[in-house]
Amino acid sequence: MRPSLVGVLVVVTLLMAFGLSRRGGQSNSEAGRSQQPSAQSGSSNVASVRALRRSIRRRIAESDTYLGFALSEGDSILKRWRNRSTEPLTVFLPVGTVPGYSEDLRGAVREAFTRWERVGAIPVVFQFVRDSAQAEVLVNWIESFPIRRTGQADVMWDPDGWLVRGLLTIATHVNDGRTVSRDAAYTVALHEIGHLLGLGHSDDPDDLMYPATSVYDLTPRDRRSARLLYALPPGSVRDP
Ligand SMILES: [Zn+2]
Repeated sequence: MRPSLVGVLVVVTLLMAFGLSRRGGQSNSEAGRSQQPSAQSGSSNVASVRALRRSIRRRIAESDTYLGFALSEGDSILKRWRNRSTEPLTVFLPVGTVPGYSEDLRGAVREAFTRWERVGAIPVVFQFVRDSAQAEVLVNWIESFPIRRTGQADVMWDPDGWLVRGLLTIATHVNDGRTVSRDAAYTVALHEIGHLLGLGHSDDPDDLMYPATSVYDLTPRDRRSARLLYALPPGSVRDP
């Protein structure tokens, strides 16, 4: 599957245990522009798109989630996977070859995928595959990032906001040489899989999706945010 990729979002998490607060990010504004109706669409079509987006914005504003915050921080495009409850999202989670890698860390990442599956009402399940060429999501182990960061998620989406591919990079060390514990790897993976599912950052330090969170597990607000994301159509929420 090689759809035309119009957007690449880079979201970064830091090793929460160290309480860092930097966040890297970029987005391609082409993705936003591609959501604009064409000039041929007609005014009634524009009006209906406008009404739909207004209702989506209202639903987000009235919810106790951080989708609104994440949209305001990003490119105003909701991104998510299609319903993958019967056709699982394929994940290549390889054995690492970098120093500091252990089966414990791999187990932690696998557990983080399973944790997201257990949230419920998110129509995405994962299937681990042996062949990276068959996988839509790749996990890559590295020894460390050049900056203080231990995880990164890169996702790609099509012009309609449907996610089509993901890459999770997990480090075995912080850039100062400290090793990443199993618990820290679990938390980092949980956060990055949140991005992989389409979530942005939370504005509340008590949530797992806060950039430098100190919590170990998903919070009710993390779960509500993900569920609402998967109850809404993807795409821009801006007025055309
Ligand atoms: Zn993040």
